[in-house]
Amino acid sequence: MTQHAHLAPDTITVAAGRPPRNHDSPVNPPIVLSSTFHETAPPVGSDRIYARMSNPTWDPFEEALAELEGAALPALTFASGLGAAAAALSLVPAGGMVVIPRHAYGGSVSLALAEEARGRLTVRQVDIADTSQVLGQLDGADMLWLESPTNPMLEVAETAVLAAAAKAAGATVVVDNTFNTPLVSRPLDYGADVVLHSVTKYLAGHSDVVLGALVTSDAAMRAELATYRTLHGAIAGPFEVWLALRGLRTLALRMERSQANALELARRLEVHPSVTRIRYPGLPNDPGHERATAQLKGYGGIISIELESRDAADALVEAVRLWLPATSLGGVESLIERRRRQPGEPKTVPEALVRLSVGIENVEDLWADLEAALSSAPNNG
Ligand SMILES: *Cc1c(COP(=O)(O)O)cnc(C)c1O
Repeated sequence: MTQHAHLAPDTITVAAGRPPRNHDSPVNPPIVLSSTFHETAPPVGSDRIYARMSNPTWDPFEEALAELEGAALPALTFASGLGAAAAALSLVPAGGMVVIPRHAYGGSVSLALAEEARGRLTVRQVDIADTSQVLGQLDGADMLWLESPTNPMLEVAETAVLAAAAKAAGATVVVDNTFNTPLVSRPLDYGADVVLHSVTKYLAGHSDVVLGALVTSDAAMRAELATYRTLHGAIAGPFEVWLALRGLRTLALRMERSQANALELARRLEVHPSVTRIRYPGLPNDPGHERATAQLKGYGGIISIELESRDAADALVEAVRLWLPATSLGGVESLIERRRRQPGEPKTVPEALVRLSVGIENVEDLWADLEAALSSAPNNG
């Protein structure tokens, strides 16, 4: 997937995954709605056969995402990010062991723990920002699951150091790159075996599709994951994948605005009297700032703040008018959520923590809404 390797990533988001330049051919790939494909005798090249195995609408998106991640092989789309996570976890042999951040995406941790409960594998949960702790847990590991910054604590890991140590220990390295996108970090470059995306978030970018993807340059691993997808049947619908490619075209602009907005809001929230603690790697005082600056091409669009109490956090979420009270992240619209409202959220996440997914609106409108809500809420300001 090196067709556009000489181009900058923001150009690749626009140029990759286009149909061939034949006279009168479309500039955008069409949505192909067909569950089955003509078979000719004798068969020529790669057979599509049936749309659970392969679909012409997947191809352009899978090529574009692979190009962005710097992968040698096309990506694999799945019906959701968690569907992709299940496929990635299937690479752990029966009786194997997975090291996973305690603050990785809740669904991924729950899935790993569910597999542990039915005896398929064992799980070691770690503080991924504590390098020596993670290194100490890698002995006997079959997989290291990396997510950095974590959700919603925004802890930053020493990803390259951990990936190298995991490889040396014989473990497969899976990186959930949903928060960063390939524009901010390319895990294959620092030794990851498999990159995971909840395409639902920044890549598709409009909160109108649920979709996942895996990316790898390892042919054997890709074949195993493709077989898993075919046999378990968690496949993506053509319309969802078409929407994701459409969303991907504006990824660079959306990330640029979202990150600029987030940095500006973080600076203002940091000195707001109602905010008792802020987590955003873009702030020089943040514990993850140095690592993020060294490893990432941006600080992302997610901010977590803590208020004085759980009631104050609930009141803030209720008082905003422009920000939308909803879970999820990475869309054009700004979302706000007190994370512990979700029953599955780990107890190590503070009750009064509010996660902000900063969208692409005008930053002054976002600030005015937040500021008004912060000062109107009881126990605040
Ligand atoms: C949302 C999310 C997932 C799960 O993806 P779905 O598309 O919701 O299944 C996995 N990892 C991260 C970091 C996420 O934010």
